[in-house]
Amino acid sequence: MAEDADVIVVGAGLAGLVAATEITDAGKRVIVVDQEGEQSLGGQAFWSFGGIFLVDSPEQRRLGIKDSYNLALQDWMGSAGFDRNEDLWPRRWAEAYVAFAAGEKRGWLRAMGHRIFPVVGWAERGGYDAMSHGNSVPRFHVTWGTGPGIVEPFERRAREAQSNGRLTFKFRHRVDALLTTNGTVDGVSGAILEPDKTARGQSSSRRVTGNFTLRAQAVIIASGGIGGNHDLVRQNWPKRLGVAPANMISGVPEHVDGRMIGITEAAGARVINRDRMWHYVEGIRNWSPIWPRHGIRILPGPSSMWFDAAGRRLPSPLFPGSDTLGQLQYIMSTGYDYSWFVLTQSIIKKEFALSGSEQNPDLTGKSWMMTARRATNKGAPAPVEAFKAHGVDFTVRDSLADLVPAMNALVDNDLLKTEALKAQIEARDREITNAYAKDTQVLNIHNARRYIGDRLIRTARPHRILDPAHGPLIAVKLNILTRKTLGGFETDLDSRVFGGDGKIMPGLYAVGEAAGFGGGGMHGYRSLEGTFLGGCLFSGRNAGRAAAKAVS
Ligand SMILES: Cc1cc2nc3c(=O)[nH]c(=O)nc-3n(C[C@H](O)[C@H](O)[C@H](O)COP(=O)(O)OP(=O)(O)OC[C@H]3O[C@@H](n4cnc5c(N)ncnc54)[C@H](O)[C@@H]3O)c2cc1C
Repeated sequence: MAEDADVIVVGAGLAGLVAATEITDAGKRVIVVDQEGEQSLGGQAFWSFGGIFLVDSPEQRRLGIKDSYNLALQDWMGSAGFDRNEDLWPRRWAEAYVAFAAGEKRGWLRAMGHRIFPVVGWAERGGYDAMSHGNSVPRFHVTWGTGPGIVEPFERRAREAQSNGRLTFKFRHRVDALLTTNGTVDGVSGAILEPDKTARGQSSSRRVTGNFTLRAQAVIIASGGIGGNHDLVRQNWPKRLGVAPANMISGVPEHVDGRMIGITEAAGARVINRDRMWHYVEGIRNWSPIWPRHGIRILPGPSSMWFDAAGRRLPSPLFPGSDTLGQLQYIMSTGYDYSWFVLTQSIIKKEFALSGSEQNPDLTGKSWMMTARRATNKGAPAPVEAFKAHGVDFTVRDSLADLVPAMNALVDNDLLKTEALKAQIEARDREITNAYAKDTQVLNIHNARRYIGDRLIRTARPHRILDPAHGPLIAVKLNILTRKTLGGFETDLDSRVFGGDGKIMPGLYAVGEAAGFGGGGMHGYRSLEGTFLGGCLFSGRNAGRAAAKAVS
C-alpha cells in the first residue's frame, strides 16, 4: 500500500511538534494532522505559563537552592503515591523523567534558544513529612516568553522541516479512526472540517466538508487530554474525591475534547489511571473569555486566608500553594464546590499571579522593564487589577463588616457569618507580629520569606489582614477549574502503546497528555508542577526518536 509519509502524528500541540521534529531530524517524513486550524498551532502549550520542572539548575544554584536528583525523586515518589499494578510503566517513566529534568533537559532546550526567567518559583510546597507530597525546594522555572516561548523552538524546527519537504501539516483534519493492516497500526482516517478563521483558542466549526485517509508505517497519538470535555471529566471522576462538582470552569480550550482517546481505545489500545486528574481549586471566571466556560487559575503566594463555603478556615497544611489535590478533596467533602480567599491589597499586589501566557504580558513579551515592575509597583500586575475590577468572583471592600455580606450576595446564600470570619482572622492576626508562631500558615509565610525568590516577588511582608493600612480587603470566590489528565495510554519508555492484551501494538505510539505525560501516568496521583510541558517534551522526544528508528 502506498504510504503518504513514514509517520503520522495526530495533534499539533507541543508533544506532537516535539515528536514530529525528532522524526524529521532523523531524515524521515512525517505528516502532522490536527482538527484545529493553523492559527492554533502549539495547542495548550501556547496558552501555558511555560513553567518547567528542572532539578539542580544554574538558576536554582544562583539563588542558593540546593537540589539533587535524589531529593527530587523523593519528592516525586512522595507525591505520586504509586500503588497499583498498572503503575509499573508510570513509575519507570517517573524515574527516567526526573533524571531528564536533572540532566539533559535544560541544555537540550537551551541549545534551541529556550531561556528561563531567573527567579525560580516554588509550587506545591506540601506541608507533611519529608516522604510525602510536595517540592522540598523551588523548582518551577518560568520560560522567558511563557507558553509561546516553549512552543517557539519546535515550531521553528517544524517550519524548517516543512520547507525542506520532510514535514506536512494537515490542519482541519479530524481523525475519526485508526487503520490497521495485519495487526500493525498504519494509518488514520477522518473528516475534513470546513475552513474556520476564528482566533486561536476559540471554538471552531465542526462542519464536515470531506473525508480523508492517510497511510504510514507508524502513528503517534498526541491528541491531549479530556479537560475541555466536562462530561468525560465527570464520567471519570474518582470516588475518593467525592461527587463530581456540579459547577466547573474550563482551564483549557474546547479542542481538549478527549475524543481521540476513545478512538484509539477502540483500535485496541489500553488506557490506565483514567481516574487520576489534576484540576485546580483556585479558578476564577475569565471576565474576557476566549473559550467556553473559560477560567483562569490563580497561582497564589502563601498569605491569603482560605475559607470553605461555610466560612471555616481550611485545615493545616491546606494553605495556598501547598497541595492541590488535598485542597480539592477537602473542598469536595464540604458539600459545596467553591471556597474563598480573603486577603489584602498588599497580598494581592505581591502574591497573585495568573496562569496563562495572555495573563502575563511582561514575561510573554520578554520585557525586562515590565517584569521588574512586579517587584516595585504599587498595584498588582495589570491583568490582576483588571480581574479585581471586572472579575465576577472578586469583591473589594474597606471593612470586613461590608465584605462578608457582599460575599454572601455573590453566591446568593447567607452561609458566611461576619463574627465567625472576624474571630478566625483576628486570631491569625495576633500570631503575625513575631518571627515565630504556632499558626502553621504563619510559620509557612516566615519559611517562604527565607527564600530570596519569594521575598523578592512572591510573599508579602507579614502583616495583619485587618490592618486598614494594607487594605482594602479582597474576597475571591474560587471555583474548580478543569485542567490536566494524569492517566492515559500505557506505554513503554519508547512511547510504544500496549494493547488490552498486554502486548505492544505494532506501529502505535502515544505522547504528551494523551499518554498521561508518559507511560499512562508518570505523575501518579499528584504533580510537583511544571511537569506537564516537560512530560510532553520527554515523551515526544522518546517517541520521535524511537519511531524514526523503527521505520525503514
Ligand atoms: C492556561 C494553561 C496553563 C498551563 N501552564 C502550564 C505550565 O506552566 N507548566 C506545565 O508544565 N504545563 C502547563 N499547562 C499544561 C500543558 O500546557 C499541557 O498539558 C500540554 O501543553 C499538553 O500538550 P499536548 O501536546 O499533549 O496536547 P494539546 O496541547 O492538547 O494538543 C493536542 C492537539 O491534538 C488535536 N487533536 C485532538 N484530537 C484530535 C483528532 N481527533 N484529530 C486531529 N487532531 C486532534 C487538538 O486539536 C490539539 O491541537 C498549562 C495549560 C494551560 C491550558
